[in-house]
Amino acid sequence: MTHDAAVLKAREIASRVLAPSAGQNDKAGRFSTEALESLGESGLLGLMLPGEAGGSGLGPRTFAAVTAMLAEADASVAMVYLMHILGTATISAARPSAAPTVTPILREIAAGRHLSTLAFSEAGSRSHFWTPMSRAHRNGDGVRVSAKKSWVTSAGHAQSYIVSSLAPEGVGPTDSTLYLVLASTRGLSVSGPWDGLGLRANASAPIALEECEVPSNFQLSDDGAGFQTMLNVVLPLFNLGTAAVALGLCRAAVTGTSSHLKSARFEHLGQSLGESLPTLRAQLAAMQIDTDGLAARIDDLVEHLEKPRETTMLRVPETKAAAGDVAISVTSAAMRICGGAAFSKHLSIERLFRDAHAGAVMAPTGDVLREFIGKVLLGMPLF
Ligand SMILES: Cc1cc2nc3c(=O)[nH]c(=O)nc-3n(C[C@H](O)[C@H](O)[C@H](O)COP(=O)(O)OP(=O)(O)OC[C@H]3O[C@@H](n4cnc5c(N)ncnc54)[C@H](O)[C@@H]3O)c2cc1C
Repeated sequence: MTHDAAVLKAREIASRVLAPSAGQNDKAGRFSTEALESLGESGLLGLMLPGEAGGSGLGPRTFAAVTAMLAEADASVAMVYLMHILGTATISAARPSAAPTVTPILREIAAGRHLSTLAFSEAGSRSHFWTPMSRAHRNGDGVRVSAKKSWVTSAGHAQSYIVSSLAPEGVGPTDSTLYLVLASTRGLSVSGPWDGLGLRANASAPIALEECEVPSNFQLSDDGAGFQTMLNVVLPLFNLGTAAVALGLCRAAVTGTSSHLKSARFEHLGQSLGESLPTLRAQLAAMQIDTDGLAARIDDLVEHLEKPRETTMLRVPETKAAAGDVAISVTSAAMRICGGAAFSKHLSIERLFRDAHAGAVMAPTGDVLREFIGKVLLGMPLF
């Protein structure tokens, strides 16, 4: 599959499957199994997997374009997709001794039959996912893990979870190990409901692991090396992907607002809202400027990930921090411009506004990213 073919497939799925049911799924808090089925059949679940694993071997550029395209129709599905791509990248980067476990799972992912996700955040350390409170304990040549994972996108729908836990002999707070835990593992359960303000259709419920037995060949990172995988494999793609979700939301807000300004009319003046009020046109223009600015930022991050250089360590946090703010600002402007029609839920704008608030609180949160950037600029240690 080429870049263009992948984006075309995403566009087709977005308009045929996602767009018609996004509103209903949001209302009901319903996870779209149809969307996952279509993404699986299209080959998009194996987008970044290497050819030898049956994937398309495509890079961050295509991942960002596909994710933005999905988010424009339904950000809940886009977030499920993003978490899956991160889970897949982590499995793909597994240490060589995990190959007997990992190889068949990667083939299932490429065939569109396996959805993965990340289970990092814990109730105790909250958004500081890099310091798990749980600790794995030796159990023969494997481990036993008990943990309270506070939000896990696709909880109860994924076939596997990438679980972080302090290494059995870890000394420091970031000495974690990453494990592949299958959904069928005894002791793993969805431990609460998901009834969020936004991204209501992505099943980001808590999960509990109680004495889950994880064999040694399901250990993805070396003991205590989970943190390095989080930083090097997960973080750049997560920040790029959440920025792409933000971009999709902004584009949908611009489209939805334009369409309202063209169709809603002041009958007494014989004009549409857009024809009548220059102030609304100016606010719409500002939304477009911010949206295109975010697109340029994302392109810039893609280039930095394709050709890493000294500034990459700034671009990675900057892009997610900026994207979270832009998505909130653009969708807030859309709410204001579309007035009572948006407020009383006659338009899909209010769903975009609610969904846009998730990016900034998903870890690393916008505040934490700004803290990282400040420390980098001042030459201070990050942790
Ligand atoms: C829709 C959704 C889906 C999610 N999916 C997943 C998932 O699939 N996997 C997963 O592991 N997690 C997931 N999460 C969890 C997410 O990544 C965060 O861990 C979670 O949102 C943090 O919420 P909290 O209340 O614990 O934040 P808190 O840690 O309580 O933060 C509260 C406030 O303090 C600020 N703050 C915290 N630390 C600092 C600091 N050092 N400097 C400055 N400000 C700071 C934060 O920015 C925030 O504004 C998801 C969350 C949401 C909302």
